[in-house]
Amino acid sequence: MENSFYSVSDNIAVETKKLLNEQKLTWPQLAEGYSLLDSVKVKTFEFDGFTIKVQFNNGRLTSSSAKVDPASIKERKCFLCPQNLPDEQKGIYYKNDFVILSNPFPIFKEHFTIPKLQHTPQRIVGSINSLLSLAKDLGLYYTVFYNGPKCGASAPDHLHFQAGNKDFMPIDNEYENLKSEHGNNLISSENIEIFSVNDGLRKFISLESKDEFKLTKKLLKVFDIISIVNPSDIETMMNILVNYSDENGWRVIVFPREKHRPSHYFAEGDNNILLSPASVDVGGVCITPLEKDFNKIDKEILRQIFAEVMMNNEKFISICAKIMNEL
Ligand SMILES: [Zn+2]
Repeated sequence: MENSFYSVSDNIAVETKKLLNEQKLTWPQLAEGYSLLDSVKVKTFEFDGFTIKVQFNNGRLTSSSAKVDPASIKERKCFLCPQNLPDEQKGIYYKNDFVILSNPFPIFKEHFTIPKLQHTPQRIVGSINSLLSLAKDLGLYYTVFYNGPKCGASAPDHLHFQAGNKDFMPIDNEYENLKSEHGNNLISSENIEIFSVNDGLRKFISLESKDEFKLTKKLLKVFDIISIVNPSDIETMMNILVNYSDENGWRVIVFPREKHRPSHYFAEGDNNILLSPASVDVGGVCITPLEKDFNKIDKEILRQIFAEVMMNNEKFISICAKIMNEL
């Protein structure tokens, strides 16, 4: 299988785009997945200075309802290990460490999964540099993101990132506005700025910097603080979105989470809504794999879901105070 991967040196974003176009011609299942995207339905809700979209996407049923408990994970063959990939799947080696793969169950018009070559657990500490360098190398076209092992990763046992078109998630464009309308500047120094934003629906910490070394150091501290305030047995629950531009450097948005799946997910009968929020959902595109849920969902339901899965106020205030005091 590894024979199907190749290396590129120059523009990785361009090669990545090319990979998907080639795969559409050589891999029927993937072509089918992307053609289904043309028929997804979308609803848009306006909140206080930002939008949340809801996408009805039946292709995401397996992912949204994935069993991620240790017993279920142990029973299945890991779908991110190179030896278990479909024969048609090609990939691009990334620094001899990761491989860039086209995602055959897309949410984005161009959607990639980027697993580590070795089967190693999903953890952010130890992989921050990979996340930042991927975001830089793919930044021309894509936003790179990370779902924590207990917070949306459908393979919590195999380290991976994802990438999708820049500007697809509303937050990519609404960020500056969210910051000025709902944000606080926690840290402002010569080469890094840290903000907190509570927009009434979501709460996040963002870091902006051109200095990779400094950014890595501060990110580690931020993760440490979040872990202390909101501990978990494996890794504190987080979703992370990263953008890069030559002009502004990195922008890392960290969403600390209270819960993986909201009570609606487990509700019986009419109250059940199959929505399992991860990075893309908190970035402003909520995925409902079932049409009945897409039809039913409204602003009030979105408010309830976000109130449950986002970090609670008390903890968020504590995190912001610690960042100001300790960084
Ligand atoms: Zn694996």
